[in-house]
Amino acid sequence: MSRVYNFSAGPSMLPVEVLQKAADEMLEYEDTGQSVAEMSHRSKEFDKIIKDAEALLRELMDIPKNYKVLFLQGGASLQFAAMPLNFMNGSGKADYFVTGLWAKNAYEEAKKYGNPRVVASSADKNFSYIPKTTREDFDPEADYVHYCMNNTIYGTKFQYIPDCGDIPLICDISSCVLSEPIDVTKFAVLYGGAQKNMSPAGLSFAIIREDMLGNARDITPIVMDYKIVADKESIYNTPPTYTIYMCKLVLEWVKAQGGLKAMKERNEKKAKILYDFLDSSKMFRGIADKEDRSLMNISFVSTSEEIDAKFIKEAKEAGFINLKGHRSAGGMRASVYNGFPIEGVEKLVEFMTEFEKANS
Ligand SMILES: *Cc1c(COP(=O)(O)O)cnc(C)c1O
Repeated sequence: MSRVYNFSAGPSMLPVEVLQKAADEMLEYEDTGQSVAEMSHRSKEFDKIIKDAEALLRELMDIPKNYKVLFLQGGASLQFAAMPLNFMNGSGKADYFVTGLWAKNAYEEAKKYGNPRVVASSADKNFSYIPKTTREDFDPEADYVHYCMNNTIYGTKFQYIPDCGDIPLICDISSCVLSEPIDVTKFAVLYGGAQKNMSPAGLSFAIIREDMLGNARDITPIVMDYKIVADKESIYNTPPTYTIYMCKLVLEWVKAQGGLKAMKERNEKKAKILYDFLDSSKMFRGIADKEDRSLMNISFVSTSEEIDAKFIKEAKEAGFINLKGHRSAGGMRASVYNGFPIEGVEKLVEFMTEFEKANS
């Protein structure tokens, strides 16, 4: 068996120990005589799996009791619609940060349901930085403020939590969940797709302060009404059972590594190896502003598009796959989530050093 270093932005590398455990339990989960993939979502065995997953997430993220944890489907993209349907129901206004493609998609989706406003944007420099705001920038009538903490495509991350006073703060944390501790109490809602850092594809999650629930519009599809899903403990209809099981294995793994503080240290160490190289290279350079750099998605370019293309091709042949940047950002992007091994980054830097020598 040989495994490549997969820099995909998601679905992405999972810890080998997790894949191994899933393989060991594929034919028979514990002493149930069946695979989790075959198990009824109403069985007591699955009930324990989903409850354990929730308990682990609560423990790792230090989620207070007055927040619900929901396991959902439809990806982060469906939640872009669920946010206005569930929460844009007072003034019908909301303030959105537009700091990348996903943030923009969330804003565009909200337009269908009310009057979102762009409170700050970094579109003027192709989303290479994070705009700063103060409390006065927000509309006091807004039903909520929405932003995306880690901009997966452009490789930027908010290093601060926007201060919007009493306005509920909603945040898409798809690509940074579990990568470092987050102060949940600062937020009304945290949500995302799980396929970047938590599980295989097919699962999304929402962490919602209880006072936010119960005001969904009448037209809200039942499976998108957070109150109903919360009352049914994420099993209104069939949830993605096997992916929730995989998520539980990932959460157990994160706990065994020492939790989110340990993840943060490791991720900082990992990202630094590549950023230090980019800062010293004459051929490659990082795209995002230094102070706004993401730990999870490292975006960079070389001196020309031809060299970019040659680099991506030769890197692939050497076992470093999915380094091509997103079509709207160009260049290269190395996504190095929790499950990505540190030696993969070390080997990539060795490869880039050789490539630079051979091509300059
Ligand atoms: C990947 C991603 C999305 C889209 O997720 P889907 O699950 O594919 O809908 C949204 N927001 C962020 C920050 C992402 O990284």
